[in-house]
Amino acid sequence: MSLFVQKYGGTSVGTVERIESVAEKVIKFREQGHDMVVVVSAMSGETNRLIGLANQIQENPDSREMDVLVSTGEQVTIALLCMALKKRGYDARSYTGTQVKILTDSAHTKARIQDIDVSNMRADLDAGRVVVVAGFQGVDEHGNITTLGRGGSDTTGVALAAALKADECQIYTDVDGVYTTDPRVCEGARRLDKITFEEMLEMASQGSKVLQIRAVEFAGKYNVPLRVLHSFQDGPGTLITLDEDFSDMEQPVVSGIAFNRDEAKVTVAGVPDTPGVAARILAPIGAANIEIDVIVQNASADGTTDITFTVHRNDLEKAKTVLGKVCADVNAREVIADDKIAKVSIVGVGMRSHAGVASKMFDALAEDNINIQMITTSEIKIAVIIDERYLELAVRSLHKAFGLEAIEN
Ligand code: ASP
Ligand code: MG
Repeated sequence: MSLFVQKYGGTSVGTVERIESVAEKVIKFREQGHDMVVVVSAMSGETNRLIGLANQIQENPDSREMDVLVSTGEQVTIALLCMALKKRGYDARSYTGTQVKILTDSAHTKARIQDIDVSNMRADLDAGRVVVVAGFQGVDEHGNITTLGRGGSDTTGVALAAALKADECQIYTDVDGVYTTDPRVCEGARRLDKITFEEMLEMASQGSKVLQIRAVEFAGKYNVPLRVLHSFQDGPGTLITLDEDFSDMEQPVVSGIAFNRDEAKVTVAGVPDTPGVAARILAPIGAANIEIDVIVQNASADGTTDITFTVHRNDLEKAKTVLGKVCADVNAREVIADDKIAKVSIVGVGMRSHAGVASKMFDALAEDNINIQMITTSEIKIAVIIDERYLELAVRSLHKAFGLEAIEN
């Protein structure tokens, strides 16, 4: 007998029929003798609908009231799911974040979980009840409702699993696992049986959208076995694990290819190449709360250099404004912006023990005549910035070059 925390996302509870199907699914596990804690999201589209209502009143409404509003979405789902369970003769009890006491800090709309009181849930489990918890929400020390940021129900699931020392946290969604890359872009994309937390984190931060990044961080930190599965198709899904021992199969060098079109590139050209210039350019960007991703500085031939970096596309206009002022300040020639770029990353813990991964990546791109504009690496990732037009071609070439079609599952 195990304790499972299962999380069902918005599409999985998007209609009353689907909520009834989730109830059936939970019952199957109950029937096998498992203790069940179920975390649910708001019915699909509901959170956006609520945000839309708020925005009809004000563009940036008060964040405390925003949390009171958007947390209602999940409250609807927990009640309906408990009704569906009870109708089928299974005892169940619903809890909002406040009722569990999922204690968070007071950072409304992006709160962080600090502590979880498991006593109510434990008592229910001991009494044979299914526990159903509203995802995405908590309560601060003053009793204010808080929410955890978009996609936050994943984090609720993982945090409950950690607090209850569950055997597994299962994230049910509309895909049947984590793929080597997006199957919509690359036909040969394959479901992975296993992926490490570290790889999953890189995949998520490089643009793969299966799980909320914070949920993966949390699961890695507390070593919660995490599994991504399809809500309504049977299958083993993908296990996300700390275990890097893939001895049952050959460890691939690259596990996955992530990509995104979220970034834009800015170049401050013709900057005098003197100590402190990079800091003088980048400090005002940081002060304007603009996050920088990839940075490249050219070698200087004539005493001047170009500093190029990427920011989120939504921040491009703001960055241009800031740099307009900085440009004069540091005596730069001009600022050039380009938002027609994309980032493609190869990710794999196998890279640590293999040489030549980067050159293989660059060869594959060269063969397709794709120009690399910027490069950045970490221990288990190599990412390149390329022209947005070649993104899909690049993903397919790299998928093939690293033999990802051939992974045996
Ligand atoms: N309902 C929230 C959202 O749409 C939280 C979640 O679904 O994870 O972002
Ligand atoms: Mg989600």
